[in-house]
Amino acid sequence: MSTGDLSAYEVTVEQEIAMILQGKPHILLLGAGASKAALPNGDKHGRAVPLLREVAEDLTLVDIFPDDLKGLAVRDFEAAYSKLFDQRSSDELGKIDTRIREYFSSFELPDEPNLYDVINLSLRDKDAIFTFNWDPFLVQSQRRLAKRGITTRLPKLFFLHGNVAVGFCTKDSTSGLVGRPCSRCHQPFSPSVLLFPVEHKDYQSDSFIAREWEAARQYFRDCFMLSVFGYSAPTTDQEAIDLLKKGWGDISERAMEQTEIINRPGADRDKLRQTWAPFIHTHHYDVIESFYDSFIAKHPRRTLEAYWNQYWEAKFISDNTVPQQFATFEEVAAWYKPLLDAETAQ
Ligand SMILES: [Zn+2]
Repeated sequence: MSTGDLSAYEVTVEQEIAMILQGKPHILLLGAGASKAALPNGDKHGRAVPLLREVAEDLTLVDIFPDDLKGLAVRDFEAAYSKLFDQRSSDELGKIDTRIREYFSSFELPDEPNLYDVINLSLRDKDAIFTFNWDPFLVQSQRRLAKRGITTRLPKLFFLHGNVAVGFCTKDSTSGLVGRPCSRCHQPFSPSVLLFPVEHKDYQSDSFIAREWEAARQYFRDCFMLSVFGYSAPTTDQEAIDLLKKGWGDISERAMEQTEIINRPGADRDKLRQTWAPFIHTHHYDVIESFYDSFIAKHPRRTLEAYWNQYWEAKFISDNTVPQQFATFEEVAAWYKPLLDAETAQ
């Protein structure tokens, strides 16, 4: 067989960059593990991105609990919080909320390019990132990419548990940066709620949270691929998985969709496979240990095209993997330029 025969079945990196399909979204679902992976040395001020139970300790939140819950709060902050919530102790709940909000608001991305910049730039504006994280890193990254003129054609962001950087206008049902004016009524956006781990979350009781989950339902219904990064679906949040599953629908009708699970090295693969089983059709899934092995990192801004070529056209595709290190934003801009240029030339 000559190479001419083969080439019809191959897609080069150049061909992948030049090909742009309009259509279905890619969904990236993020949990705390993503922030840990993005900031192995902590934030700009060297502070490690904490888990909630670590925050509880750092902020001595235990002190706020009534005496009968202090013991539990030390052992299991989330369970104690849940009890406090059931008791409707609004003073204590308010204090905890304020301290946690202040704490997470003060986190900042390091000045140099970060994994979060790569994540944002590697998806397009038809795609969506749904995050459970309260930290402001995704938002900070999108702001700086726009400010530096790299691009504003970035994935839509949705905050399933609220976010310290994001505010909401209840009157107009719009969201934006906390404190900035709403484009319609010009009143400042008020802080979005932070949804705490209570046994039975009510995703409908707050209009901002309800709107984010409605978006999740629609995107999950329409997407061609789901990537889950650093979210191991705690049993306390079974409701979240159930809701997402409703959007995704019946797996037998999602026969061509792909699911990839990015988790920390050494994570229990079988358990992850089990957790995400409602989103996996037979063998259409991957469990990987680094974002850089993901479909998103191997086919930045062209995941739909690569998926189409590989799974529908049965072609051999080439990887256009994002570099793991960028020293400057000039390097970032230069690397993504061919992809962005091809999109504007359309
Ligand atoms: Zn408004």
